[in-house]
Amino acid sequence: MIDVLVSGAAGRMGREVVAAVTAADAMRVVAAVDTGYAGDEAPDCHGGSILCSGDLATAISATSPDVMVDFTHPDAVEANLRTALASGIDCVVGTTGLSESLLGEIAAEAPENTCLFFAPNFAIGAVLMMRLAAEAARFMPHAEIIELHHDRKADAPSGTALRTASLIAEARSEVPSTPGAETEIAAGARGALVDDVAVHSVRLPGLVAHQEVLLGGQGQTLSIRHDSVDRTSFMPGVVLAVRSVGALSGLVIGLENLMEP
Ligand code: NAP
Repeated sequence: MIDVLVSGAAGRMGREVVAAVTAADAMRVVAAVDTGYAGDEAPDCHGGSILCSGDLATAISATSPDVMVDFTHPDAVEANLRTALASGIDCVVGTTGLSESLLGEIAAEAPENTCLFFAPNFAIGAVLMMRLAAEAARFMPHAEIIELHHDRKADAPSGTALRTASLIAEARSEVPSTPGAETEIAAGARGALVDDVAVHSVRLPGLVAHQEVLLGGQGQTLSIRHDSVDRTSFMPGVVLAVRSVGALSGLVIGLENLMEP
C-alpha cells in the first residue's frame, strides 16, 4: 500500500488526484493539504473522512506518507517540495512554473534515494503530441506553438509549451531566421520566444488544457493538436507516477520516462 499526501487537495487538479488515488489499487490518500481549505473535508475522499490540513509539515509528521502529489501554485511548490523531500518523501509534481534548473537544484539538495518526479503534462496524449512535434521538427524546422488554457491558470506560457519548445529546439538542426525579425505593430503579436520557438498563450473560460503545434514547409503546413477536455485525462499518468517513484531517485522529468515503448 502506497500512502499518499495530496497537496492542493481542494483545487481543480487536487480533487481529481484525491478521487483517482482513492479509486486506484494498492494506494490510498492518508493526508490532504490545502491552505485555502484547512479544516474542510477533502472532496471525493473516502466519503469526506479526511480533513484538509493547512500545514504540510504537520500533515507529514501526523501521517508519514510515502509520496506527496503536488498540484498547488507556482509560488508555493518550491517550499512544499523542500519540506517533503527533507522528510524523505518522494514527490510527484504537476505544478508548473518552476524552471528545470531550479527543480535540479531542489533534487540535488534532497536526501539520497528520494525522487522528484515532474511532468509538465500528465496526459498520455500530450506526451505523444510533444514527441510527434519533436519528430516533425527534424524535417520541418519552422514551428510555432499555440497553447490554450482556462482563464484561472497562474502562469504563461504553460509548462507543456515550454517543454515542447525545448524538445523542438533539441530536435531541429536549423533555426529559422524568423520569428523576431518583424515589426510588431502591437507588442506581443508574434508571441513569446522560447528556445527560438514562438509561443502564443490563449486564456479563456471554457477551455481546460489544449495545445497545437503548427509546422510550415514549402506549400504545406502540419498541425499536431492535443486537447484535454476533462481533468480526468491527467489521472492515469498521476497514478502511474505514484506507483513508479519509489523505484526512482533524483530528478526525473516527463511521463515518457515511465511509459512502455
Ligand atoms: P487550483 O484550482 O488553483 O488549485 C490549487 C490549490 O492549491 C488551491 O486550492 C490553492 O488554495 C491550494 N494551495 C495554494 N498554495 C498552497 C500550499 N502552499 N499548500 C497547499 N495548498 C495550496 O489550481 P489547478 O488548476 O488545480 O492547478 C494547479 C497546478 O497544476 C497549476 O500550476 C497548473 O498549471 C498545474 N497543472 C498541471 C498539469 C499537469 O499535467 N502537469 C495539469 C493541469 C494543471 P488557494 O485557492 O487558497 O490558493
